[in-house]
Amino acid sequence: MKDTFDVAVVGAGIVGLAHAAAAHARGLRTVVIDRADRISGATVRNFGHIGTTMQVGEGGEYARRARELFLAYAPRAGFWLARRGTLMVATAEDEMQMLREIGEGRLLSEREVTDLAPVSGAIGGALLKDDMQVNPRDMGPRFATWLEGEGVSFRWRESAMIAEDGVLYTSRGTIRADNVVFCVGHDVDHVLPEVAERHGVERCALDMALAGGIGLEFPVLTGSSMLRYSAFRQTAAYADLLARFQRERPDMLDFDVNQMYTEAPGMGLFLGDSHRTEPTAMPFQDEHVFGLLAREARRLFGLSHVDVRERWQGVYAKAPEDFLRERVADGVWVSAVTTGIGMTTGLGLGESVIDEIYGSERT
Ligand SMILES: Cc1cc2nc3c(=O)[nH]c(=O)nc-3n(C[C@H](O)[C@H](O)[C@H](O)COP(=O)(O)OP(=O)(O)OC[C@H]3O[C@@H](n4cnc5c(N)ncnc54)[C@H](O)[C@@H]3O)c2cc1C
Repeated sequence: MKDTFDVAVVGAGIVGLAHAAAAHARGLRTVVIDRADRISGATVRNFGHIGTTMQVGEGGEYARRARELFLAYAPRAGFWLARRGTLMVATAEDEMQMLREIGEGRLLSEREVTDLAPVSGAIGGALLKDDMQVNPRDMGPRFATWLEGEGVSFRWRESAMIAEDGVLYTSRGTIRADNVVFCVGHDVDHVLPEVAERHGVERCALDMALAGGIGLEFPVLTGSSMLRYSAFRQTAAYADLLARFQRERPDMLDFDVNQMYTEAPGMGLFLGDSHRTEPTAMPFQDEHVFGLLAREARRLFGLSHVDVRERWQGVYAKAPEDFLRERVADGVWVSAVTTGIGMTTGLGLGESVIDEIYGSERT
């Protein structure tokens, strides 16, 4: 019985934990296996921004449900969750126009923006009050520890290879499970190559940095970050903003920079990030990117110096569709967020996939 479960989840990132939590909430015997000895993938490498307001369509549905689940889990699992919203900073009229068009949150004057954050050059902004923030280095580990305490089994340093006929074959033997859900993020091609190819899954590599804190109390998004998320892409102002960046800031577009900042207690200022999509993420990080990120941070916050303490590469799965969820064989499923919104949507996706497997009637 020791190796027999109702659900085996492969991958202990936010997406795997989301499936495990949803399965466990139904009283299912659940195991999570991960090849690493701790959570070390995209889930600990990100900004910790829960940008609910910025998602529409399928992503919007998962994000709204994820928000409810974050609020329910944070006090129980004991992870930090800030509910202050996102501060969108407009430094040009086309950015302000986009904020008017998305019709979300409260529009802010220049003065109101500078009262909320130490930014310079703002002409206005918006406060998207439903957005939230976690500390990415703390949320996943605390959630996993809590789930384990609640009765979910965790097996670390164990790689999954294939699953068939109710058996998951791993680097340490076999696990029996009625349903196996692969939540391996960008490594879906390592375990299910045909599925990855059919869905066009590649790897998006991002450069990130952590600098000394500046007392930022809100996640701040500005400029090129308004070219990214689905809620922004559907505005009329999007074309004007893109045209200006093509004309004036091709460097930002060349590195596909998402200009955003978060600060978590005891952590400092997360700043990023650039994007490069390829089937294999090469590890070499271009110093020009870090120069650009530091320059933009200095300009936005009126700093003479940005005290960078850490740099790292993050990788997430990227495909034409934002989500990959499929039953690949009897009792074998794959679930992934295939763009950079897994912290925002993962908890909602996980619950939805477990609902699909076991029926939406929850006990
Ligand atoms: C730099 C950066 C910034 C981002 N910022 C944000 C943000 O602010 N907000 C937001 O919503 N999203 C953000 N994202 C996206 C978000 O981090 C990801 O979408 C999300 O973390 C993906 O979670 P995951 O569980 O699928 O992947 P991961 O966290 O990568 O977890 C996958 C796990 O699978 C395990 N694994 C893989 N293969 C196997 C195997 N064969 N056997 C066993 N285990 C295996 C790995 O060890 C890993 O632990 C960002 C991503 C990056 C990289």
